[in-house]
Amino acid sequence: MLKIGITGGIGSGKTTVCRIFESLGIPVFYADTVAKQIMVTDMLLVAGVKAAFGDESYTIEGKLNNKYIAQIVFNDQQELDKLNALVHPATFRAFERWMNTVPAGTPYILKEAALLFESGSYRLCDKSVLVTAPVDIRIARVMERDEVSREQVASRINKQLSDEIKKGMADYFIENKETAALIPQVLKLHHQFLK
Ligand code: ATP
Repeated sequence: MLKIGITGGIGSGKTTVCRIFESLGIPVFYADTVAKQIMVTDMLLVAGVKAAFGDESYTIEGKLNNKYIAQIVFNDQQELDKLNALVHPATFRAFERWMNTVPAGTPYILKEAALLFESGSYRLCDKSVLVTAPVDIRIARVMERDEVSREQVASRINKQLSDEIKKGMADYFIENKETAALIPQVLKLHHQFLK
């Protein structure tokens, strides 16, 4: 079964695009959502995080101490790499488990990941799709969606690989300026992937 990785910078609209694929019956693995879930459910990962960052990484009730972890990794690339080295393989394992639940006869699946290229997970996909949108539109969309400041969005954008670099790595592109233009682009790729 064909595995298609789909990515895009923050606010580019990759989740919106994936919802359209889902409406066509295509299963989507949301890597970032799953990564958050397994931070508390994958005991091997929990043990790894505690070993790397201390028991304070989790509350007594077993919830992730987001504030504590964020404060360690936010401005320290080495610590962030350490966390990613634990989370990415665990997410790959979760993806393999999820693949076993995909109904037989499914023509292809999508794997949505913000860090598809950065994490190396694109190598496990057959093809990749990059969703792009102008930076000013992305900032406005995220400011509205997350109720955050322009500076907060800009600082998150600056931490990701630029679209220019990702453009050189992706096989297909979706330009997400307006909703009307989005659906025909998705349908075109869908028919291509069905072939
Ligand atoms: P993130 O990386 O932060 O998860 P994302 O790339 O998955 O972002 P979405 O959540 O799909 O992006 O879109 C960001 C916001 O912009 C959402 O509130 C979404 O509803 C809105 N949006 C996306 N595409 C469009 C569009 N074409 N027209 C209007 N609003 C849009």
